[in-house]
Amino acid sequence: MNREFRQTVIAGNWKMNMLASEVNAFSERLGTLVPGFRDWCGVVVCAASVLLPAAVKAFESIGVGVGAQNMNQHESGAYTGEVSAGQLADIGVGYAIIGHSERRELYSETDATVNQKVLATLKSPLRPIVCVGESLSQREIGVTGDIVAMQIKMALHGVAAEEVRKVIIAYEPIWAIGTGKTATPEDAQEVCRAVRNILASLYSDEIAKVITIQYGGSMNEKNALELLAQPDIDGGLIGGASLRPESFAAIINAANQ
Ligand code: PEP
Repeated sequence: MNREFRQTVIAGNWKMNMLASEVNAFSERLGTLVPGFRDWCGVVVCAASVLLPAAVKAFESIGVGVGAQNMNQHESGAYTGEVSAGQLADIGVGYAIIGHSERRELYSETDATVNQKVLATLKSPLRPIVCVGESLSQREIGVTGDIVAMQIKMALHGVAAEEVRKVIIAYEPIWAIGTGKTATPEDAQEVCRAVRNILASLYSDEIAKVITIQYGGSMNEKNALELLAQPDIDGGLIGGASLRPESFAAIINAANQ
């Protein structure tokens, strides 16, 4: 983390878990475990669409932002079953995960749709959390840097310098998501540093310096401190460990010191 230049953001991704009736108890417990957040440390919970109104209400009182896990790239219209950035912002949602590897793999999201969604969030009050990362075979072949560079260039195509500061990048090696296998702090740092270099080449050193880059992939209460100590890792996107207030709080506390 480098608190001098950029905000640390710890974001939970609840995926298709939790019920609306469980949100209040989670928020109350989290509030007791993490009594206050520093102004440089943002905390976000990304919940399933149906939970978002309850989450906005419950988390507001403890200063935790709420994010969606996906959204449609269009403003409005005949897109049955979809939700727009404007609709999310209207109910108080502040963030949207874009291009999570599960959506890329299971719902055929491409770099082109990720780009359209990023552009749509930037026309709204939402901050996009843009996920990039390599598969195990890509890592073994040695193309991690190329894959991540292409994903970032595609995701940010047409994003102006004055807008890109709103973007959060989450580096999530696919082989580490939900598997219990975490990238070593050194490996995660190396790719997050490479991400910052790509941002510098697309924009400028000054802009790259202020963009929040998270690591995601089996981050938990045991490994968070070491990962967050890396200079280019400015937070985490956390799946499994965000479902228990105790483990999520431990990660927040590791960042919030
Ligand atoms: C994720 O869903 O983005 C994620 C990183 O999950 P987990 O922490 O469970 O690996």
